[in-house]
Amino acid sequence: MPIKLFDSLTREIRELRRPDPNNPKDVFSFYNCGPTVYAPAHIGNFRTFIVNDVLRRLLELEYGKDKVRYVRNLTDVDDKTIKRSRDEGRPLAEVTKQWTQKFHDDCARLNCLPVSEKFEPTATGYIREQVNMIDVLMKKGNAYRAPDGSVYFKVSSFPNYGTLSRVKERELKSGSAFAADADEKEDLSDFALWKAHKADDGDNAWDSPWGRGRPGWHIECSAMSKALLGDTIDLHTGGVDLLFPHHENEIAQSECCNGTKFSRHWYHSEHLLVDGKKMSKSLGNLYTLDDLTAKDFSPMALRYALLMGHPRKQLNFMLDSLHAAEKALSGILAKVREMGACGNALHFRRELDQIIANDEGTDWGSFTQALNLLCDDLNTPAALGAAFTAFKNITDLDLSQDIPWQRWRVEFLAAKRFFEQALGINLNIQTDDEQKAVLLQVAKIPVEIMTLAEKRWAAKKAKDFAGADALRKELTAAGWSMLDGKDGYKLEPIKR
Ligand SMILES: [Zn+2]
Repeated sequence: MPIKLFDSLTREIRELRRPDPNNPKDVFSFYNCGPTVYAPAHIGNFRTFIVNDVLRRLLELEYGKDKVRYVRNLTDVDDKTIKRSRDEGRPLAEVTKQWTQKFHDDCARLNCLPVSEKFEPTATGYIREQVNMIDVLMKKGNAYRAPDGSVYFKVSSFPNYGTLSRVKERELKSGSAFAADADEKEDLSDFALWKAHKADDGDNAWDSPWGRGRPGWHIECSAMSKALLGDTIDLHTGGVDLLFPHHENEIAQSECCNGTKFSRHWYHSEHLLVDGKKMSKSLGNLYTLDDLTAKDFSPMALRYALLMGHPRKQLNFMLDSLHAAEKALSGILAKVREMGACGNALHFRRELDQIIANDEGTDWGSFTQALNLLCDDLNTPAALGAAFTAFKNITDLDLSQDIPWQRWRVEFLAAKRFFEQALGINLNIQTDDEQKAVLLQVAKIPVEIMTLAEKRWAAKKAKDFAGADALRKELTAAGWSMLDGKDGYKLEPIKR
């Protein structure tokens, strides 16, 4: 299935490029602007990272893991990180290391796939590459050094400036879109590539042909994507707040420096509102993951709630939506648990393992159906709904009745698989101790014992009590006791 995604540049839903499966060097290159590591990320940031994680999972499922190269950077030097280091009297590297670790921990709790160190570059690790790019821009006449020693990009030198954000039509004329942060610029719309050292920067300065200083924020993404993914990439993403000026500036720098198209496709996820308002510290509606887990919500419920809205629409987050997500998740888990406690589940589980082992050739009906919804402009709410319905249809079956095993166990696994592999909603994380114990037990019970137990359970249900007693004796002789419950049984090894 081709993956179609809205392109912020052309303003239409377009197919993404599919890498050539026969050329091992051809990979799909995907750059996602990462966090600034000076404080915990809030749930609005995580909406973007979770949407991008689902997009990455979809690409890997459709193209193959080794055909997708995902890069997400860490901004570890800028005004905010330097201010925090100064306020706390600690070295910048120590501060950013702490918050990088926190970001990784939160991502892991939210079940975002990890990014390898090589593909999670830091701004301070790529100073040379940034200086090189600025040097090219200076030589090509796209940049100039101002009297204050800083280097600026000359926006008027790039006629296509404003194409992504349509900023020209909107605000370029009035200049209102640009912060009047430096008086030294030739034009209000020009932006810093290299910032000359100031006392406030402390030790955080590097040598360059234009004197000591530090890179501007925008150049870091241009330089790191060039270094790790090449001059032209397949997809560049970020939150909608980065569209202007950050991404507009990235295009200008990269295309002037490299003389070629920067990104084939642009994708932006929308803002997260909290209780109908933009998140802000002063309104007291800015939540971090820790704030929510302190209220006893699980990270998986947050992930679920954030995927309930279409990524390209603003999502209004309320604690009520977390309650709803938690309820939906616990409904699924209760059913899984119920099956775990029922005799049939042992049989079920064993066969599932066999299905997993012989994956090929299986018709993953609801998995494919839900995946197709993701392929259509990353429609996470529709995909979530389809998987949830598939799950419900299966788990609503009356387990005590004769049911078409072959069909529903495949469908059950397909829905579970979709939740876990495509949406990254891990259903096992939340299984309680009882469920874990049942699964552990299942793993340890020999197949012949399970077969005996299944036979005995069937005999008992058929009211063949003599047969059931005889089978119980066989089980006892083999060292297992069978404890009957209302809806099923438990097997335990007899302690001697
Ligand atoms: Zn960026």
